[in-house]
Amino acid sequence: MKVPKPSKVLVIGSAEGRVIEALEYIADLHKTHNFKFVICLGNLFTRKTPTAVVSKLKNEKFLVPLPVYFGVGSAGMPEAVTSHMAMYGPEICPNLFCMGICGFMKTYSRFTIAQLGGTYDEVKFNEPMNKREKSLTERSFHLTDVQTLSKRCDILFSNSWPENVQNKSSLPRRNLPSGNAPVAALAANCMPQYFFVPSPVYYEREPYRNSAVNVPSGTVSRFFGIAPFKNPTGEKFAYAFTLNPLTGEYVGDVPPNCTDSPFVLRPIPLKRASSEQVIPPPDSPISTESGFTRFKKSKVGPDACFFCLSNPSISLHLIVAIGNEAYMALPKGPLTTKDTNAPELPFPAHVLIIPIAHASALSLLSDSSYKSTVDELHRFREAVTQMYNAHNSDAIVYEISRANGVHVHWQVIPIPKALSPTALEYFTNQAKESGFAFEERDIRSHELNYFRVFLPTGEILVHTLSLRERFDLQFGRRATAKIIGIEDRVDWRHCSQTEEAEKKDVEDFKSYFKPYDFT
Ligand SMILES: [Zn+2]
Repeated sequence: MKVPKPSKVLVIGSAEGRVIEALEYIADLHKTHNFKFVICLGNLFTRKTPTAVVSKLKNEKFLVPLPVYFGVGSAGMPEAVTSHMAMYGPEICPNLFCMGICGFMKTYSRFTIAQLGGTYDEVKFNEPMNKREKSLTERSFHLTDVQTLSKRCDILFSNSWPENVQNKSSLPRRNLPSGNAPVAALAANCMPQYFFVPSPVYYEREPYRNSAVNVPSGTVSRFFGIAPFKNPTGEKFAYAFTLNPLTGEYVGDVPPNCTDSPFVLRPIPLKRASSEQVIPPPDSPISTESGFTRFKKSKVGPDACFFCLSNPSISLHLIVAIGNEAYMALPKGPLTTKDTNAPELPFPAHVLIIPIAHASALSLLSDSSYKSTVDELHRFREAVTQMYNAHNSDAIVYEISRANGVHVHWQVIPIPKALSPTALEYFTNQAKESGFAFEERDIRSHELNYFRVFLPTGEILVHTLSLRERFDLQFGRRATAKIIGIEDRVDWRHCSQTEEAEKKDVEDFKSYFKPYDFT
């Protein structure tokens, strides 16, 4: 594994929406200092940042010369930024990265940055996940955000202060923001080398020593409050330093003024309505009844997974229903359209049923959530099938389950009722063409690697995937396209739609689904 090289980093205080001015300042300083990356605290953008400013950046009328990372401050985010993120992810323009309410990133220089944005609202913090529509426009952080971020990082920055940061300090006590417990707990769990928050005044605490099992003793954190960008009172608003990797040759002596940690190391509070509703943090072990505890899980973590609600860059506008264990979203590039469906179903109606927990296969879910998740997937499947049935259509539902997949989901596609009797033959023939034969059965308990399809005539077909088998991921879509006679739509990338069209489809789906929606 490659180790990062010492890198010069710049951190600036809240620009309160003066985006271009702050970026110009950074660009200017970069010319002489050659930073590796920059962090902007607090409100780089605000809800009121003009769209023209965002356009200027997106059209590259202003070039950001080095990676700049920022999160959601206390003043929200302009719609132009959140909609960009929903469509294209966190990079607003080349080199400018929005880490949302909760973000974890590895820089090009291989350092890790964790960011917790927004404000602390105790009620919202503890809301059950299913009650809370996770959204890019969210302005306060949630328990699951703190859990997701609770892993080692080089730099932590948050919009709000940790509580008790002046504990154990021998510096004169100052009148600083009082902070909150979740951010303090996060800091204790992350053990960052550097921890920055936006501050009304410049504040530098003595370094403190983290202590935890499995952590080399003497891991030292440095905490800074950085004053607002170009503030009128002349408080220090920029901090530059050299970040060293946490490896032997760079872990120097513990500084003489180092104190004990002001933060109590404790597990992030797990108070919540149902233990089943929380997306497991990326490092949580996966266990199954069958003892596959060491089974390699997906390499893509929840923060980069396009089916994880905790990923700030997923397309939230495609979500049509959220249950306790699973949710439904429309796919990008649906196979069907109003023209390929029965006239009674005048919109694409192709939908995905997705477990909320990040797992590449259902059998890799924890014992406690397996049954409730599978039950709810079927409940969604039955509800959508009923909706189709009421509109002269039937459902083809298929699933690819693989230990090395990313995030398991079910594709649900309508076909006109008249075509239903042909579905079995099309799937059987498609299998023949691909060199295998289906078994007509359901999956066995804890079966891991398989393709499964539920046909409208009641048959369930399963094909066991061998470990080295190169299975065509479009198999189900290809077979369904043949049933309907729309093979030109097999490649979803040729079926992509404008966001406006997607939003219209979401509205249509929701209104047709309403009588069957149990969420
Ligand atoms: Zn996921």
